[in-house]
Amino acid sequence: MSVTRRGVVYLVGAGPGDPGLMTRRSLELIAAADVVYYDRLIPPGALDGARADAELIYVGKQPGVPSVPQAEIGERLIEAARAGRSVVRLKGGDPFVFGRGGEEGEALRAAGVEFEVVPGVTAGVAASAYAGIPVTHRDDASAVAFVTGHEDPEKAETALDWDALAAFPGTLVFYMGVKRLGENAAALIAAGRDAEEPAAAIERGTWAGQRTVTATLGTIASTVEREDIGAPALIVVGAVAARREALAWLERRPLHGRTVVVTRARAQASGLAATLRGLGANVVELPAIRIEPLLESDEVRRAVATIADYDLICLTSPNGANLLFDALAAAGQDGRAAGGTTAPGTKTGTAGGLDARALAGATVAAIGPGTARALAAHGIAADVVPERFVAEALVEALSDVDVKGKRVLIARAAEARDVLPDALRERGATVNVVAVYETVREAPDDEAIAAAQDADYVTFTSSSTVRNLTEALGDRFPAGARIVSIGPITSAAVAEAGLEVAVEAERHDVDGLLAALLADATTN
Ligand code: SAH
Repeated sequence: MSVTRRGVVYLVGAGPGDPGLMTRRSLELIAAADVVYYDRLIPPGALDGARADAELIYVGKQPGVPSVPQAEIGERLIEAARAGRSVVRLKGGDPFVFGRGGEEGEALRAAGVEFEVVPGVTAGVAASAYAGIPVTHRDDASAVAFVTGHEDPEKAETALDWDALAAFPGTLVFYMGVKRLGENAAALIAAGRDAEEPAAAIERGTWAGQRTVTATLGTIASTVEREDIGAPALIVVGAVAARREALAWLERRPLHGRTVVVTRARAQASGLAATLRGLGANVVELPAIRIEPLLESDEVRRAVATIADYDLICLTSPNGANLLFDALAAAGQDGRAAGGTTAPGTKTGTAGGLDARALAGATVAAIGPGTARALAAHGIAADVVPERFVAEALVEALSDVDVKGKRVLIARAAEARDVLPDALRERGATVNVVAVYETVREAPDDEAIAAAQDADYVTFTSSSTVRNLTEALGDRFPAGARIVSIGPITSAAVAEAGLEVAVEAERHDVDGLLAALLADATTN
């Protein structure tokens, strides 16, 4: 079953720029498409969910740069659909609002190709909302008009009736309005619109770095020029533009205007990055490491095959917990072949592998709440979870558990400290340390490094990221940034790298790190 039909073209709106404003349907179609033809102004990461084997083809137009002509885009869509592929045509905002979606639909229909339209949040509504400007208001505007400020230069005559627009009883929202703003504002005033009427210009609405300026219809052009507002920008003319004074909210978010670098491996970064964006931060992802699972090793196979023999199982990271369950799930297929004794009571069928029941006899310890959550997602409520997120705290929390003569499994990263196994061995346990993953270096790309240069904050969630990133960046480490560390071990690595920690989290998990950063941002 698929959410897409073969041979159909989906004309899909990607919204105005904030990835959070993409519709559920758009993401579903992108994830299923064989081929995506996309424009320039689509949100960052919009295509991240596309299939690895999907063809992603850029057909955008950029001022002053040769581009794929409109007729050819239509032909390509028709060709791809006729070849029986499921085709997504992804456009900024809404495909039917100044998006040429109508023309493309007509060309498809003429060629006998089926299409569907998925609306998107249009910039006129979204950028205004992010600027604190309601396009309608009971007291100010009972109507709103979307107007093009820059018509197709090939059109012989203007379609804009300035007299009618001047008399329009409501808000005027101009798309593509920056280039001809001076002429358009003058034409409106000449046709009788009040020069004192409030007006606003919104640049890169809903993107990180959105800027808004307000003026009057008479002064908006000079204001836009002075403030260097450039495309893409929207011009709003109407009394509602003055409502921004009372309704601006974007700029009030706690991390507005701050650039925060996230250094976690990409697979782990998304939660932290999304939370920071939600607080208003401009997030730069600068991963210096990547998680590489090691589930094929003999030690992992052996540990899984004998999983029921362990009295205590310790997980020291969410990755470790998730990968242990991956290894268990894979074991059903070849667990016995790995050479271990198949544990009594465990499933021996080939379908599905092992699951949480394989851990039924053991005490399960998690190093912190994040790891406990990962375990919970697999149906295991951890027996032991220390308050503080360091190995020493887990050792302390385990002091009540009698480990003498017991078999302990620690599933963790290949490169980790030996505090936990050493302490347990000292207390008489037989400890098997198994590496279920390793963190490997990844060179951060130059674009991200450049974007990080003006960062206000760099966040570190582990000592290995500190070492890898500082070595990878050398003297390109953002000099002015305040460093936020998740805890003492990470802080020590920062100091070792010759840098200074500005804030250390009190709780050594991601929420603690966020709280520390927020507290610092309100005072600095
Ligand atoms: N189909 C799109 C509009 C495409 S026309 C939609 O529905 O939003 C391109 C124009 O849209 C730009 O010149 C600009 O005026 C406006 N625009 C698009 N994205 C914008 C954004 N994020 N902020 C402000 N204006 C934007």
